[in-house]
Amino acid sequence: MEKNYKKILLIAATHGNERIGIEVINRLAKQKLDVFFDFLVANPKALEKNVRFVDIDLNRSYPGKQKSKKYEERLAAKNIKLAKKYKYVIDLHEASSGTEDFIIIPRHRLNTAFPLDPINLGTVLIWPDPKGPLGSCLKNTIELEFGMKGKNRKIIINRAVSVVGNFILSLDDLNGRKTAGNRKRKEIFEVYGKMNLQEAAKYRVEFQDFKKVKIKDELFYPLLVDQYKDLGIAFYKMKRTA
Ligand SMILES: [Zn+2]
Repeated sequence: MEKNYKKILLIAATHGNERIGIEVINRLAKQKLDVFFDFLVANPKALEKNVRFVDIDLNRSYPGKQKSKKYEERLAAKNIKLAKKYKYVIDLHEASSGTEDFIIIPRHRLNTAFPLDPINLGTVLIWPDPKGPLGSCLKNTIELEFGMKGKNRKIIINRAVSVVGNFILSLDDLNGRKTAGNRKRKEIFEVYGKMNLQEAAKYRVEFQDFKKVKIKDELFYPLLVDQYKDLGIAFYKMKRTA
C-alpha cells in the first residue's frame, strides 16, 4: 500500500547529540499537531550513542551514496529520497555553544520554495555555497538552529515548539486553525568565509556567535564557533546584509 505522505516533514537528530528535534516532535504530537506532519530521525545510531556523528557529519554528506562504506553517506541517500516526498522540510538543530536562534537557507533558495515569513524567528542566515546539508540539495528544506549557550533549555525548547507549531498552523490550507501572530522582522546575515583554528588562536579575542569583531580592519560576525573543530574550522564569518 502506498504511504500517505503529509505535507511537512520534521527532521530530528541530523546531529545525534542534539536532542531538540526529538523533544519538539514529542511536544507537537502531544498538541495533536502530528496529524499535519511526519518525522524522521535522521541519524539513529548517532542519537543512540549521543554523538554528533558516527563516521562523518551527516549535515555535510548529502546527497549521499547508497553503497558508501560510511554510515552517514548511506543514511543521506536514504533520507533524501524520503524528504523529496514532502512539500516542506524542517531540519531541527541546537548549538550548545551558540546563543542565537536562526533560520539557515542556501543562497540560491532565497525567495523560492519555502515561505520564511511564517517562521517566527528574527534572524536569517544565508549560506552562499553550502556543501552537504540537505537544504543544498532540496529547495523545500530549511534548517532551524536553536542556541542553548547560557540559556534555560526548557525555555528554548518551548520557543522551538511554538515556532514550528505556528508554522504548521500557518499553512492556510490546514483546516483554518489560526496562527498566533507576531511575526518578526527578519535580519539577514550572509556567510562569506571562515577562519581556521590556528589563525583564530593568534588573536586575543573571545569569538562568539553573532558578536561583531574587527580583525585587521575586517569587520564580521562569527558563526558556529567551535561547532566544526573536527574540520579545523574555528568559526564561519558573516556580514549583515539587511
Ligand atoms: Zn546540528
